[in-house]
Amino acid sequence: MIDTYSTVDLPEDQVYLSHHFTCPTCCAAGRTSGLQLRCPQGLALWDAYEAAVLARDQAEREAHVARLKSLNTPNRTGPRQ
Ligand SMILES: [Zn+2]
Repeated sequence: MIDTYSTVDLPEDQVYLSHHFTCPTCCAAGRTSGLQLRCPQGLALWDAYEAAVLARDQAEREAHVARLKSLNTPNRTGPRQ
């Protein structure tokens, strides 16, 4: 197994990168910006990576909104008309 550095600090990224750097098909896909398809295993790992990134981003947005809502004063009723 090749050790790689995860750029987004997710296990799914690490798993994909470990596959990517041992798979010529997925390396070619990465270099050609979608012109070359990933292999079936690489595609499944890539899909899992993208889903994990989207889920993390959604959780961060929801946490941000919750923080903003917690800053509201009790008398605030919304935007002024
Ligand atoms: Zn592959």
